[in-house]
Amino acid sequence: MTKRLIALLTIILAQYAVAIFALSSLHAVPLKHFSIQELTHSNTARRLNIDNTPQPHHITNLQRLVTVVLDPAREQIGIPIYVNSGYRCPRLNKAVGGAPKSFHLQGRAADITTRKLSNNMRLYLILEKLPHSELIWEQNGLWIHVAL
Ligand SMILES: [Zn+2]
Repeated sequence: MTKRLIALLTIILAQYAVAIFALSSLHAVPLKHFSIQELTHSNTARRLNIDNTPQPHHITNLQRLVTVVLDPAREQIGIPIYVNSGYRCPRLNKAVGGAPKSFHLQGRAADITTRKLSNNMRLYLILEKLPHSELIWEQNGLWIHVAL
């Protein structure tokens, strides 16, 4: 009984350590124009009561996406970029009809828009020159899917 209790406490402490590490690394990376919160927010998740909280490794991926792709794109275009969808937990990804192996599931993708077609064209050209593994012009340019 005591051994099991110690094992349980060890697991709980380890999880706390992971959470604290995730929080500290979050502060170490300066995100300029995008927050983890806006890359995790989902109206669909809220409506369907889906908990879309990312795991530490998802947060790490989101930070990488921001520092390597989204922030540089935002600096270059000089106007606001809005995030339609970033990280998606499996339930949310299914609810929005995402691809089963979508990079959104790993926090490696974002659907972004300037809310104006001509500016989305500029954004696409900027993103083409930045590192990415996927770049998709979605719904006739209504938004752009970019993944790292
Ligand atoms: Zn997407």
